[in-house]
Amino acid sequence: MKDPFLSTSYSPVYTEVDDDPREVEYIEIKVKSALHHTRLPYSPKPFFYSLNLYRGCRHGCPFCFARYTHWFLGFQNSFDFQRKIQVKVNLLEKLEEELSNPRRKREWVTLGAATDPYQPAEKKYGLARGAFQLLAKYRWPAVFSTKSDLVLRDLDVLKELVDRANGGVAMTLTTLDPALQKFLEPHAVPIHRRLEALRQLKAHGIPCGIHLMPIIPFVTDTEEAIEGMVRAAVEIGVDYFVYNVLRLRGEVVKGYYYHVLQKFNRTTFEQTRKLYGSRPYPPETYTEALFKKVKFFREKWGYQNRWRAIFSDKQLELF
Ligand code: SF4
Repeated sequence: MKDPFLSTSYSPVYTEVDDDPREVEYIEIKVKSALHHTRLPYSPKPFFYSLNLYRGCRHGCPFCFARYTHWFLGFQNSFDFQRKIQVKVNLLEKLEEELSNPRRKREWVTLGAATDPYQPAEKKYGLARGAFQLLAKYRWPAVFSTKSDLVLRDLDVLKELVDRANGGVAMTLTTLDPALQKFLEPHAVPIHRRLEALRQLKAHGIPCGIHLMPIIPFVTDTEEAIEGMVRAAVEIGVDYFVYNVLRLRGEVVKGYYYHVLQKFNRTTFEQTRKLYGSRPYPPETYTEALFKKVKFFREKWGYQNRWRAIFSDKQLELF
C-alpha cells in the first residue's frame, strides 16, 4: 500500500534555522472537537484518546515525526513547524463538553503524541493546566510526555489528577550530552533541568518515566549513551522506561532530518542514508542489536518497569 505521507506532492522550502525566540508566531484557531481515538504501540492498552493542545512545536527536534502535519496544514516552509504554532483557543470548552458527556466511555487520555503540551506557548495560554484540571474534575486518567520542566508549575493539578483518576508524566530524553542537544532538540529545556523535574515529580508521588525516544542511529546509539540513560532512570527511580528507534516516515520528515543532519555531520548523514535506504525504519538486524543493548544495560543496572502496576484499569472499573 502506498504510504500516505509519501503521496503528498513534496517540494521542500528550507531557510536557515533561526534561534531567535521572537520569531515564533502564535496563530489562534478554533477546533470542532478535542479528543481523538488513537492507538499507542508501546502502551499496555491498545486504545487511548489523544489530545493535542497546539499544532507545531517550538522545541524543533529535526527528526520529529509530527512535522508532516504542518505540511498538510499548508505550511510549506519546513521551519514553520517550530515557528508558526497554532493554538486551539476554544479547546478547553470542547474538552469539557466531551468529558461531561455521559455517553462517552471514560478511557486513558494521552497528550504529547504530536506536540509538546509544555512547549513555550503554554506559558502564555495555559491549555495544559486547564486540560489537567478538567481531566481531574471528571476523573479521566491521563499520561503525557514533555521536554520541559514547565510541568512543575502544575504539580498541584497533576497530583489531583493522580489522586482522583490516575496519571503519569514522562520526560522525553534523547541525549544526556548538552552539545548533542543543540542539534537534536534545539529549543527544548536543558537536560539537567528535565532530570531535576523528574526528581520533583517523583518526590511528589506522581508516577513518572523516561521516554528514550528516539534512539538515533550513529548519534545516540552508543553503549555509553544508552548506559548513561539507564543509569539516570535507576538513579531517579522512574516508574517506567520506554524506548524506540528513530522512524523517518515520509519525505517531509526524512527530508528535513537529512537537511539538518548533513550540516551537523556529513559522514553521519551518509551512514544514516545507507542504513535507512528508502525505508522508514532501519533494517531489523540493526534494531534487534540495538534493543539487545538496551536490555543488557537494564539488566546490568537492575532496572524494572512498574508500568503495568501503575497504569491498571482499577480506577476506570470504579465507574
Ligand atoms: S518535543 Fe516532541 S513534539 Fe516537539 S518537536 Fe520535539 S519531538 Fe516533536
